[in-house]
Amino acid sequence: VAAPRALAVDVGGTRVRAAVVTRQGRVLARLEAPTRAADSPEAVVAQVADLARRLPAEGIAVAGVCAPGPLDVDRGMALATPTIAGFRDFPLRAALADCLPWPVHLEHDGHAAAWGEWRFGAGRGTQDMVYVTLSTGIGAGVVTGGRLQRGHRGMAGHAGHMTVAPGGPVCACGNRGCWEAIASGPAFAARARDAGFADGAAAFAAARAGDTAALALCGALAADIGLGLTNLIHLFSPALVVVGGGMTAGLDLLAPGIAAHIARTALPPFRGVPVLPAALGDNAGLVGAAALAFAARTRAMSLSPSQASG
Ligand SMILES: [Zn+2]
Repeated sequence: VAAPRALAVDVGGTRVRAAVVTRQGRVLARLEAPTRAADSPEAVVAQVADLARRLPAEGIAVAGVCAPGPLDVDRGMALATPTIAGFRDFPLRAALADCLPWPVHLEHDGHAAAWGEWRFGAGRGTQDMVYVTLSTGIGAGVVTGGRLQRGHRGMAGHAGHMTVAPGGPVCACGNRGCWEAIASGPAFAARARDAGFADGAAAFAAARAGDTAALALCGALAADIGLGLTNLIHLFSPALVVVGGGMTAGLDLLAPGIAAHIARTALPPFRGVPVLPAALGDNAGLVGAAALAFAARTRAMSLSPSQASG
């Protein structure tokens, strides 16, 4: 009998990704589409079902799905996802289970990506790792002593809403000065436009060409990213920090400034904690969601029938 496979789904605010993933974290087939984020939660669920139908179903035993928080993973609910219309108190797991022929396991996307990187990517071989997604928003997943820190209702790691600049720019959550209000992709893009660049990518390109204003923008962004990472390093004492998400397209420009900020502001014993790019890139969430779904399936199968029904 062939080893089971998982259907892995990463429902992002911008892209929906689906893949067939093995127990060893190998991606066998993969599809993606722009998220119909402005339409309705049902439209997004239909997209997932459509991608799943177009992937080879052979050997799939379980579906591992990750989505942006806040989610209540115990109840399978999307609670208040600002980037997808209608993901408010929406029973995401039940809606997906209605249209997929496998048991559905739901996780916070930051947790799934952290687990993927820890099991199969840049965090392999460590016990303690912090993963941070720098993207449309900022999220995190923490592995301590080889265990994923889920927190109450699976909501740990909303690092993007740490207040790092009281009275600062307004965040998507409504508060001022959240980390993601100053260091996310949209925050950087806004600053780039103020400085006369078309968007964040244009500012990165100009910085690579030596443009002084673009280099200054990158320096400020690196310091803002380093500020939040230093807070996380102090809190969790990771052996390393792994960063993923769209903003890592500029990591070659940002890494020296991030390292310098940590070296300048962290307590001395924390100053050398390395910050590495996600080794799985865009697939971290998919691979992690699959691995967590396999683990949940193994736990369910190890229960006796009486335990399982109780
Ligand atoms: Zn916020």
